[in-house]
Amino acid sequence: MDREIARNFWHELFTAYPCVEDRILEKDINELSSRNRTLHIDYDILLGVDFDFAEEILDFPEDMIPLGCSILKDDANLSFAPKIRITNLPNTDEISIRDLRAAHMYKLIQIEGTVRRTSEVKPEIVEARFECVRCGDIISIIQVNSQNFQTPAVCPNEECGRTGPFRLIEQSSRFEDWQNVRIQESPESLRGGEMPRFIDVILREEIVEAGQTGNKAIIVGVLKAIQDTGLRGKKTTYTKYLEANSIIIREKTYEDMELTPEEEERMEEMASDPDIHLKIQRSIAPTIYGHENVKAAIALQQFSNRQRLLPDGTKQRGIYTFCSSEIPVSQNPRCWRMQRSYRPVGYIPQEKGRLPQGSRRPC
Ligand SMILES: [Zn+2]
Repeated sequence: MDREIARNFWHELFTAYPCVEDRILEKDINELSSRNRTLHIDYDILLGVDFDFAEEILDFPEDMIPLGCSILKDDANLSFAPKIRITNLPNTDEISIRDLRAAHMYKLIQIEGTVRRTSEVKPEIVEARFECVRCGDIISIIQVNSQNFQTPAVCPNEECGRTGPFRLIEQSSRFEDWQNVRIQESPESLRGGEMPRFIDVILREEIVEAGQTGNKAIIVGVLKAIQDTGLRGKKTTYTKYLEANSIIIREKTYEDMELTPEEEERMEEMASDPDIHLKIQRSIAPTIYGHENVKAAIALQQFSNRQRLLPDGTKQRGIYTFCSSEIPVSQNPRCWRMQRSYRPVGYIPQEKGRLPQGSRRPC
């Protein structure tokens, strides 16, 4: 698609379209401020503007989204650079983590999975300012590629024009928040004894710390890859990662849950039942026969234990810990997987040194 045509479509979206479609977008645009610089756009709205335009955004997100941001800035007369985050891609563009292929590189895609590990939030330099040591000229370089830090090649001052040296001035450079989050396939989507796959996702600015370990997340982003290196230099293979454009946490944590009065009443009633522990235990994976001990352990894991106060005043966390030495071929992992499906938080870690079938080792 011609960039001029794309430009017109973005312009139409920000000026004409919001007035027709219950004005959601218009309200959001009016609410943009230097503190809240993000405009969330549902993919359906893009489809409503034009089908080819919406497709173009999926195929060339790295061109189309920045173009949209610059047009939004002009159309809404903003004094700051806005961000556009696209949510809710159609199901056909939601790809499971294990099906990500070379064909998806640099395309806008949607994945769903469980947050497994989050890194600390780091400042990332996005606009680096350098000073030419020879003439004192200040050079500003926007860091486009997060994998390579770019430095000036020559001094732009015509009278100087030398190749450096240049000094990085951190104080006047621009930094943004950066975080790496590992997303693992949801255990429910696995078949048989498959190990869950994962992908690293880069979150930036206000979406850092959006999810915590155990949360289910739907992420829209651009699939990219870093070249692998071996002992003899660079290899021909790459490792995939996703640069997130938007993240939605699908499941709420316990704190966010709200109970209706009927639910509360029902819970009180159940709590007074002396056999409640057995009922909970039996409700776990009822289609799997036996394994009462495993089910009892899983049932106990749903609750915290009492905090322990030791004689010397030390406090111990009230959690249940238990160890299962069952071999992987048993029904045990299935019990775990089934209980995972109704717990809002929790995940099954990848079992690294898993034992070969049939072997036993005390733990
Ligand atoms: Zn210079």
